[in-house]
Amino acid sequence: MRLSELGEFGLIARLAARFGQGLPPGMVGIGDDCAVIPWDEGTSLLVTTDLLIEGTHFRLGDLSPRDLGHKALAVNLSDIAAMGGVPESAFLGLGLPESTPVEWVEELIDGLGELAAATGTRVLGGDTTRSTAGVVLDLTVLGRAPTAHLKLRAGGRPGDVVAVTTSLGDSAAGLRLLLDQASARPPDEAAAATDELALIRRHVRPHPQLAEGRWLASRPEVHALLDLSDGLDSDLRQILQASSLGATIELDRLPCSAELSRCAARRGWDALPLAATGGEDYGLLLTLAPAAATETARAFAADLGHPLHLIGQLQEAPGLVYRQAGRPVELTDRGFAHF
Ligand code: ADP
Ligand code: MG
Repeated sequence: MRLSELGEFGLIARLAARFGQGLPPGMVGIGDDCAVIPWDEGTSLLVTTDLLIEGTHFRLGDLSPRDLGHKALAVNLSDIAAMGGVPESAFLGLGLPESTPVEWVEELIDGLGELAAATGTRVLGGDTTRSTAGVVLDLTVLGRAPTAHLKLRAGGRPGDVVAVTTSLGDSAAGLRLLLDQASARPPDEAAAATDELALIRRHVRPHPQLAEGRWLASRPEVHALLDLSDGLDSDLRQILQASSLGATIELDRLPCSAELSRCAARRGWDALPLAATGGEDYGLLLTLAPAAATETARAFAADLGHPLHLIGQLQEAPGLVYRQAGRPVELTDRGFAHF
């Protein structure tokens, strides 16, 4: 069998089967946003690592080195946020072609350094090597979290409300604009250009929701928490699999930004499939006790200054069901289709 048939998740399942057994109490290995290592009384050490490879994760022409440095750290901090943690330190693995201008590397380090400073993350080490396969960035971030606050993907309970902390699909729309750039005419009105720049910015400069993660993790009514890296559909399935549950998502409640709605209308795109499947928004996805959901959403908006969107519910029956106007719809390669 080739890797393309096994898939990323299939390979991770094999790794988990090999290395996930017999861990001491309190330790979490392969399968959540961060590894968890019990540290001292009440505190756990968090470890996460994410690899960004030129050609797979980014094209050099689409973002500045400053954006790339920011993004490489941001995607790791997002996993710390998903555990309700505080970042502490980062280790920077750099693979660079010999022809790379030094100024380019300095800008990359500036982008990473600015986000590190803003979040209290100290760069304590790394590794540097010549690369014949383009630019490679391999970040590892350590953080810590109150052990009592850890919310794992397996924490979902039947009846839980499903919620997200950001609008969905902006980053995927930004990526689509970047990929379409060669063929598509840029919009001529200034307002349209502003919308599209905002979407591209969501893609190249993700904002890790560290304060939101800590706030949510501290609430006992929040049961499962992870960050939206692969897209709602894929990331919610992680909770469903880990919690052995199903879910129903109401498409009418998926939060789409005004920028995405206007851009989709102008370009003739369907915004809903982008919102449901588009990756790299780096908001948080959570499930919480239904009795507390409305009050939690109110308090979240009051404390964090932006909404918590309640978009669906977990259920015993397996599978992920989408509904629109109260009727089930099916997610196909070409968008949502009514049965
Ligand atoms: P995330 O998107 O939250 O970073 P991933 O989908 O990348 O999570 O990974 C899921 C889980 O699988 C994580 O716990 C991660 O540490 C683990 N994992 C991924 N690749 C490997 C690997 N090559 N070896 C061991 N564990 C891995
Ligand atoms: Mg994650």
